[in-house]
Amino acid sequence: RAKSSPNQTFCFFEKGMDEAVARRARTERKLREAIDADEIEPYFQPLIELSTGRVLGYEALARWEGRDGRVKQPDEFIAIAEESGMIGELYFRLLAKAAKEASTWEGDCVLSINLSPLQFSDPWLVERTLQTLQQAGLPPARLEIEITESALVSEVETARAIISSFKNQGILVSLDDFGTGYSSLRHLSEFAFDKLKIDRSFITNIDTNENSQTIVRAVTSMAHHLGLKVTVEGVETEANAQSVRDYGCDFAQGFLYGRPEPARSVDCEESQAKSDVGEAA
Ligand code: C2E
Ligand code: MG
Ligand code: MG
Ligand code: MG
Repeated sequence: RAKSSPNQTFCFFEKGMDEAVARRARTERKLREAIDADEIEPYFQPLIELSTGRVLGYEALARWEGRDGRVKQPDEFIAIAEESGMIGELYFRLLAKAAKEASTWEGDCVLSINLSPLQFSDPWLVERTLQTLQQAGLPPARLEIEITESALVSEVETARAIISSFKNQGILVSLDDFGTGYSSLRHLSEFAFDKLKIDRSFITNIDTNENSQTIVRAVTSMAHHLGLKVTVEGVETEANAQSVRDYGCDFAQGFLYGRPEPARSVDCEESQAKSDVGEAA
């Protein structure tokens, strides 16, 4: 930044920018190729009914299985897919695969999938979702869409219309990551959610943190009074599970019951949760 050499500083800065831009362009291109080549895979994590220990369904979580053999996590590519307009394509391809898999599951085992806030601007979202389910042979009543609260803030009317439209088709709708970011109690009464998923950050320290205990208990009671079921994310230990059972939560998800796993290791026939810590150790 020395006054005597402004050009040098400028050049250095520009070169760094070029590299960042080039790297970003490269990642975007690779992601585009990966989506087109169907290399984004759904991994499935079980959702458990706390009162019985039964597996009620699985959440499909996106994984990028690169040609280098490394499996990339959502935080490495979901934001990029959103920023470069590919998230809709990613969603439909992931849904197609996940729904096809779910159509082989026993009984009424439910498939959950995450929707990006940006997808509210897609006028064909509901229709294409139904079409994809039909092609996969999965009844709409066995799909659950997870929506984060940030989606509800900017486009209230659109969000309301789309949520109602999903619900009219028999699709379940959950409010994901509740308690983070934009949490507004208004969302709970104004949108027709079936379920609320309390964010993992409240469960991580629930054994020792009285504030988390109070919040989980109160949110659960409030949700029940509003006619919503409650899922807790991030249950990692038996002690966590005991706490959330005591607080009246309905469903749980977490490493205690299972990590997200590729389709080949999932079947919804076993009605009892494995409850093995496996990979979590
Ligand atoms: P989410 O929808 O809240 O999913 C739950 C996340 O918590 C998953 O992370 C899961 O692996 C992790 N998790 C579950 N149980 C535990 C536990 O006991 N302990 C800990 N430490 N973590 C646990 P993942 O798969 O890395 O996904 C992160 C986020 O990325 C998801 O959060 C979701 O918001 C987003 N995401 C994933 N797949 C998709 C997708 O296909 N589309 C969109 N739009 N977003 C996605
Ligand atoms: Mg992860
Ligand atoms: Mg989710
Ligand atoms: Mg969540």
